[in-house]
Amino acid sequence: METVTPMSTERPEAKNMRTRPRTKAPSDAAPRRAARAVVCYAVDRLPAYDRNFYESVRRDLTKVSETIVPPRDAGTFRVPAGHLFRIVSSDGPQVGDLNLWNANDLSERFFSGKTRALHATHVTTGDRLWSTLPYLRPLATITHDTLDWYGFDDDGGGVHDVIGTRCDPYTQLLLGGTEYHHCCHSNLSRALAAHTGLPVREAELHVHDVLNVFMCTGFTRDTHQYFMKASPVRPGDFIEFFAEIDLLGALSACPGGDCSAEHSNDTAKCYPLKVEVYRPSEKALSGWKPAEASRYSRGHGSG
Ligand SMILES: [Zn+2]
Repeated sequence: METVTPMSTERPEAKNMRTRPRTKAPSDAAPRRAARAVVCYAVDRLPAYDRNFYESVRRDLTKVSETIVPPRDAGTFRVPAGHLFRIVSSDGPQVGDLNLWNANDLSERFFSGKTRALHATHVTTGDRLWSTLPYLRPLATITHDTLDWYGFDDDGGGVHDVIGTRCDPYTQLLLGGTEYHHCCHSNLSRALAAHTGLPVREAELHVHDVLNVFMCTGFTRDTHQYFMKASPVRPGDFIEFFAEIDLLGALSACPGGDCSAEHSNDTAKCYPLKVEVYRPSEKALSGWKPAEASRYSRGHGSG
């Protein structure tokens, strides 16, 4: 006999919703919850974003290189200190996963978590991409963002997040039971291996949490779960950075395309991304010096 399953009235995403254990709240729960929220870091003590300097640097630029990152793949690029680089949407809405290293020492790399804590969940013009401890210096400063108009939408979503990690084959296997080898993590690992000559297994250990370029993400209001929605990026949009030290970058064109529905498979429509590197005039850079690592990196911050 055939059994009939009643139609579910649940929302399709309900299976992904998190449930919390509910312990009876104490009688003073309300005043405990009402404690004042304090922004964690005194970011007004960070070196100020010198708009005049960066705008003057942007005024007279010579393009010195261009890298095309094919869809579902990654590419590397070098940016000398004092140069600018742009990540450009060229053909269609596409998300990019960015890794950055000190070009002379792979142990110093982009520190997504501290960047988030110092600036915000999503970054834009005037924010900096900080490096890992014990160095903790700005690797790059964002000097232009054509998507800065987006702000935060009604879902709490924003663009260019430092809250996601990168799509990777391990999580894909854990949750989906399937193997996929063009995740951003794999793409970045192979690109770094090709650039450095390291075996992929070794290069993989240098790949780190990314800046999700052009990706639109946030946390659901009720359960604070990480969500994504279609990126608002369109061809011609770009985000631009000033290299505060010599940089090696790697960029993956995410297999999720605009990340409107899924990633970690070959289903989404994907487009290439372009990285352009520009040299400013010598005059604009006169007196400028690369960022210095924290003085604790020479002594010892931990001792
Ligand atoms: Zn990805």
